Amino acid sequence: MARRTEFVTYRPKTILNRHKRPDHWFWTRYTAYPYKGCQHKCLFCYCREKKYCPFDDVDDFGYVVKVKENAPELLRRALGRVPVGMIATGDYQPAEKTFEVSRRMLEVCLEFGFPVSILERSPLVLRDLDLIKEIDARAPSVVFFSLISAPDSPTYERVREMENLAPKMERRYAAMEQVAKAGILTGISMMPILPGLCDTDENLEATIRATAEHGGTFVVAGGLTLSDQQREYFFGVLRDRFPDLLPLYERMYPHPTASYGGLRTGDPHTIGRRICELCQQYGISDRMPRPIIPGDKRGLNKRVVEALANECYWMELDNAPKQRAWAYRKAAWAIEDTEQDLGLIYRAMGRKGLESIENVGPKMVEVIEGLIKELSRV
Ligand code: SF4
Repeated sequence: MARRTEFVTYRPKTILNRHKRPDHWFWTRYTAYPYKGCQHKCLFCYCREKKYCPFDDVDDFGYVVKVKENAPELLRRALGRVPVGMIATGDYQPAEKTFEVSRRMLEVCLEFGFPVSILERSPLVLRDLDLIKEIDARAPSVVFFSLISAPDSPTYERVREMENLAPKMERRYAAMEQVAKAGILTGISMMPILPGLCDTDENLEATIRATAEHGGTFVVAGGLTLSDQQREYFFGVLRDRFPDLLPLYERMYPHPTASYGGLRTGDPHTIGRRICELCQQYGISDRMPRPIIPGDKRGLNKRVVEALANECYWMELDNAPKQRAWAYRKAAWAIEDTEQDLGLIYRAMGRKGLESIENVGPKMVEVIEGLIKELSRV
């Protein structure tokens, strides 16, 4: 008999995870999620990895959903005590229809003026578009979709099988169009790019084209990670349902305990560069634009950080010397941590002022000076 999903409500002690600074991919400062476990049961899901899996038995993943029933109250208490920043939140698996914890958490975000970042495999997120629009009007937000293929890709059917019970891609692209029409930043997380299925040129192009055609303005791409029990589970799936792919994955993921990230087929950066070219061809970006609240006193700093982080990413794709890319990354971190407005520092003290920022040497001062001039004109 098919196993039924079990819902377990509980009251965690905390809800908000805080990062030292926003990451350079999704620009989120906080994460707060309403559920543990996921009914979509994607076969490749990284949440089966030991360090993420909320269950002792990996087979419970997808069949048990833990509902954080006091999440909105906890969030209300937490947001009153921290500076405003982007929160990764929302989870629109079928459980949300019944429990509505995501919606109640969004209400709290609106109350406190926190921008939200919602990454979805379900069009159910459209149910809360009214609320998200209100949040976005105050604090620019992002709603984007996990999409690793497109209906006209030759590998579409097989990728769909890998996505298991996640809603059809067509519905996600249509939802993206609605989000774009509502004036909210949208695009895709093209993760994980499954070797042998998603990394073909036809699939990359079909996905990026479909994104651009449905109002998406960016693609954030990443490779598949496989480690410990998650690797074991996925290799079992390959053996049973995709035996032709098994030799490729055995070659690419030879060690049971190592976790692999990045875009790993041959030269690990080839796919990233191809995505960059295709995004240019279709007039979108291969980086998520950083949402910034209008009037933010540190708005210029944040734009400079974004430009440095993007440059660092592209340098790494081009195999630039490691220390060059790191100089950009470290300068981006230092500027993120600078409380004073960069424009003010520059106007008051010129290059000397910029040099006084930690991890900003003379060469980087030139780069930052150029960015300040360019971005201040916008
Ligand atoms: S949608 Fe798929 S990949 Fe995302 S958490 Fe659920 S099972 Fe995992």
